Amino acid sequence: MKTEPLSSAELSELILGLNRLARNLWWTWNQEAQEIFHKLSPRAWQNLYHNAVAVLHEVSDYELRTRLQEPAFADAVRDVLKKFDAYMNEPNTWAAENAQKLNDKPVAYFSAEFGLSETLPIAAGGLGILAGDHAKSASDLGLPFVGISLFYRQGYFMQTINEENWQTEYYSILNPRNLPMEAVLDAKGEQLTCMVQIATSQVKFKVWQVNVGRIPLYLMDTNLPENEEHYRDLTLRVYGGDSTTRIMQEILLGVGGVRMLRALGLQPSVFHMNEGHAAFLTLELMREKLAAGSSLDEAKALTTKECIFTTHTPVEAGHDRFSSDLVQYAAHRFASNLKISHQEFMDMGRVQQGDESEPFCMTVLALKYSRTANGVSELHGEISRQMWQGLYPGKSVEEVPIGHITNGVHVAGWMKGPLRRFFRRRLGEGWETDLNTPEFWQRMEDPEFVSDEEIWALRSVLRRELIEFARRRLLIQSQNLKRENFITYDHLLNPDVLTIGFARRFATYKRAPLIFQQFEHIVKLVKDKQRPIQFIFAGKAHPRDDEGKRFIQHIIHLSKHTELHGHLVFLENYDIHVARQMVSGCDVWLNNPRRPLEASGTSGQKTSAHGCLNMSIMDGWWREGFDGTNGFAIGPDSHPDSIEEQDRVDSENLYKVLNDEVIPTFYNRDASGVPRQWIQKIRRSISTLTPEYNTWRMVQDYANKYYLTGE
Ligand SMILES: *Cc1c(COP(=O)(O)O)cnc(C)c1O
Repeated sequence: MKTEPLSSAELSELILGLNRLARNLWWTWNQEAQEIFHKLSPRAWQNLYHNAVAVLHEVSDYELRTRLQEPAFADAVRDVLKKFDAYMNEPNTWAAENAQKLNDKPVAYFSAEFGLSETLPIAAGGLGILAGDHAKSASDLGLPFVGISLFYRQGYFMQTINEENWQTEYYSILNPRNLPMEAVLDAKGEQLTCMVQIATSQVKFKVWQVNVGRIPLYLMDTNLPENEEHYRDLTLRVYGGDSTTRIMQEILLGVGGVRMLRALGLQPSVFHMNEGHAAFLTLELMREKLAAGSSLDEAKALTTKECIFTTHTPVEAGHDRFSSDLVQYAAHRFASNLKISHQEFMDMGRVQQGDESEPFCMTVLALKYSRTANGVSELHGEISRQMWQGLYPGKSVEEVPIGHITNGVHVAGWMKGPLRRFFRRRLGEGWETDLNTPEFWQRMEDPEFVSDEEIWALRSVLRRELIEFARRRLLIQSQNLKRENFITYDHLLNPDVLTIGFARRFATYKRAPLIFQQFEHIVKLVKDKQRPIQFIFAGKAHPRDDEGKRFIQHIIHLSKHTELHGHLVFLENYDIHVARQMVSGCDVWLNNPRRPLEASGTSGQKTSAHGCLNMSIMDGWWREGFDGTNGFAIGPDSHPDSIEEQDRVDSENLYKVLNDEVIPTFYNRDASGVPRQWIQKIRRSISTLTPEYNTWRMVQDYANKYYLTGE
């Protein structure tokens, strides 16, 4: 059969379409769209770290036109563009029916970090990942919503490990022209800029837009020649620098963010502070209201009606606190704007009014001037009510007005291709629209509907892909050390072995090395001839967290120089891409924080759709998710008071569940080699966790409980 060559008009239309597609992060949750860019240049797609815009820059116009003459490729492009356009123009969204009130008055969601794609590394960890997933689901649901953050041109650090097994940080420069983002233009066609006062300077910033499906994310960037040099670098790095940089970044985020929204002509009905970093926005809203003639008390009351606040951690150090001197230096403008004294201003961020020894706390500011506040799991809500009871004199702990909405993940964005194809084949397209319908997922429990063999085959593919990914990464890591040149890593890890994953920030409360406290036991388990286990670890420590770095050093040491060699590996530079490989390929996801410090935890939620089972302390989301059949609990739903005792008991319980439940169930095979009981748990995990711990459910909860309940 001969096909007609495409006309020049058709070609131009497809090329325009590809450019539109590349500049919208919709492709980060659409595996077919990624395939297009992968097919254009597999090497560029890999080397440019899955950056569709950069791949398009790599491929010349001539080559693109030639490639589009391949009928199969042109068809694939047409298909994806059709889906993309249908998505962008879908009138019947959830919000069209349920959130009309927000039309023209969107939700403005402020977050110091957004984790949307490995190609735009402007997140440090779970907080940013959550913000990214929140935005993607807001888009899917058609919610009137805009995101506000900073453009960090060096992003978050990349991690390598040196000869002493010590984490070292390095940064690359992000070039906006080569990224899925674009300049926001003003009426004159120049990049939009706004001003914000920091210390005694007027700091100018420009505005970028990232398209996340249907919603815009606006990023502020102070890298302008007009700014003094240290302000040019204010947006250099995610949480870069000392507390002076920090408070200044937060002034930019909160105050600059509101200024920018006004310059964009937006009048949000809700200002959602994702963590306290953005809490200065309340002061800018008050200033606006004073300028419009309100008294300070009225301005405070009106501001409070517009703001909602989500707190994300019970860890003390996770709450920004600034000294009186620093506030006086960097933020004296707030007091003068509000026509109050420095001490009166300090009190806005203090639990004890008038206590001059108390620093200014961003969480306190946010709690005081929000109409609702919430934690990110049931237990975290409870702990937060205890933590902040002092702010509400006369109220019992139960009466403290902090609720909770448990976190979720954007399921499609965490999927790997084989899983998406599996769901499409077995569940039809419906899984994308019925994501949080439990009845839909219950079908995964029916062996008539999906057989054990199919599930096990999928698991084998996903595990093998992870092992091969890990070996490739280990080879590259060794080359970075320039010692071991011509070795392969194919002897490390085994694609048939029960694989336990641990990947998260190396904050010490997460206790990465806990499982190795029972060292002799673990050695016995990995060396078992019939029922061995193996471990894949990854994670970054904060650049100034030496204890976290010692944890990394310890684990790498174990992986290289003990009997665990070959059965334990550490993958460098944990990010969204590494996370996606790990949550899909591991059999068990290990989570052993010091209870109750893991406010929610989301990495374990990414695993369920892939058939990887959680093995977790009863903390954060897992207390709610675990039902006895859909994974494994480490110890009871309680913990001893003493930290030492907790560490000891948890490490014993961890070993116990591994030995008594996890390993026997995984290796209990029938004649055909299929672990029936294990697969039963996978079925339960998919059917009970996927419809609940996703950001569609979460964003709908935010909308119903908070966004839509304002006046
Ligand atoms: C999911 C994710 C996190 C958060 O994981 P937790 O389990 O909540 O600690 C952090 N970093 C990356 C890259 C992630 O993908």
